[in-house]
Amino acid sequence: MLALALPLTADERVKDERVKVVTSFSILGDLTQEIGGDRIQLTNLVGADEDAHVYQPTPDDGRALLAADLIIANGLGFEPWLYRLVESTETSAQVVEATRGVLPIWLEEDGEKVPDPHAWQNLANARIYIANITQALSNAAPAHAAYFAEQEQAYAERLAELLADARSEIERLEPSQRNVVTSHDAFGYLGQAYGLNFVAPQGLSTETEPSAQEVAALIRQIRESGIGAVFVENIRDPRLIRQIAEEGGAVVGGTLYSDALASEGPASSYLGMYRHNITTLAEALRTAAATP
Ligand code: ZN
Repeated sequence: MLALALPLTADERVKDERVKVVTSFSILGDLTQEIGGDRIQLTNLVGADEDAHVYQPTPDDGRALLAADLIIANGLGFEPWLYRLVESTETSAQVVEATRGVLPIWLEEDGEKVPDPHAWQNLANARIYIANITQALSNAAPAHAAYFAEQEQAYAERLAELLADARSEIERLEPSQRNVVTSHDAFGYLGQAYGLNFVAPQGLSTETEPSAQEVAALIRQIRESGIGAVFVENIRDPRLIRQIAEEGGAVVGGTLYSDALASEGPASSYLGMYRHNITTLAEALRTAAATP
């Protein structure tokens, strides 16, 4: 049966021209929306406060990939499930990695050298992310390239402002105030950018739970090296970290946003999340050092 083709309204025509973009997790979703503005139709897969390491894709996710013009992933091994889904759906959408051109931190996990995927925790890398996103959107919709470039420029200025604020916050910490414990190894890039030392009972991924020996070793380390503050993460169960803090005699300094934005409040955007993390870290580390 032939469907009757009705003429599109002006609104529908605008909608039809928008690039259909899928992003893998909330931080990329926010960055992509900031660049794409009203010229894209965005579907983000792993939402706020959700853990992308252990994500189980749904049939809806598969359908979103099939309908997409462009898929934006983090890369560096962060979302292996996405690549499996791209393959099984045989989507014709282009897959672009936002970390292309980032200099990875390499770590050893179970005797293997693997890149740390949490590159968004360095603002200099976020600048690379938005350049890659702008390029990918412009390739997908060349007619909007000038608009995307303007959005990129405006966002880059906000990034630069935040970078200056973050530097001046952290700069004031003494070397002895720069040791931090979090649930999993998600802040290597932040540590590298500002000279903070992060240790965690869990490795780069959240897939495997730490052993009793690993937890005991970390508690000893906190007691012996005077680690000032311990932080819970929004994507992780806080109980283990609270126990580690208590037994090690450290303060729980608050919640850090590691791999996902908050579902509401100031940390529900990338810039807000980053500012929250820096302020929370700096305040807790200063306070912890002041209380012997
Ligand atoms: Zn992570």
